[in-house]
Amino acid sequence: MPIYEYSCPQCAAFEVIRPMEAAADAQACPTCGSEARRKISAPHLSRTGTAAFSLIDSTHRSASEPQVVTGTLPSANSRRTPSYSSHPLHQKLPRP
Ligand SMILES: [Zn+2]
Repeated sequence: MPIYEYSCPQCAAFEVIRPMEAAADAQACPTCGSEARRKISAPHLSRTGTAAFSLIDSTHRSASEPQVVTGTLPSANSRRTPSYSSHPLHQKLPRP
């Protein structure tokens, strides 16, 4: 959903996230309640679709919609590499 900016004559500017069909030209200020006019601003399209934007978006989304892990983590023994080598030439190396 797009973000609309409104400027209150009494307070500072504020942003409202609304569907396009519900965006009004005037909005009540959440601080003082007076009528705020919608500002015309440039859309923030430059970051969308980039890896940085998807990282920021997933970071913001994880705060409210954490991903649920199903199943168990692999045990520590299955991830450990063997301490010996199966290469035949390594068998000829001197042992401690
Ligand atoms: Zn205000």
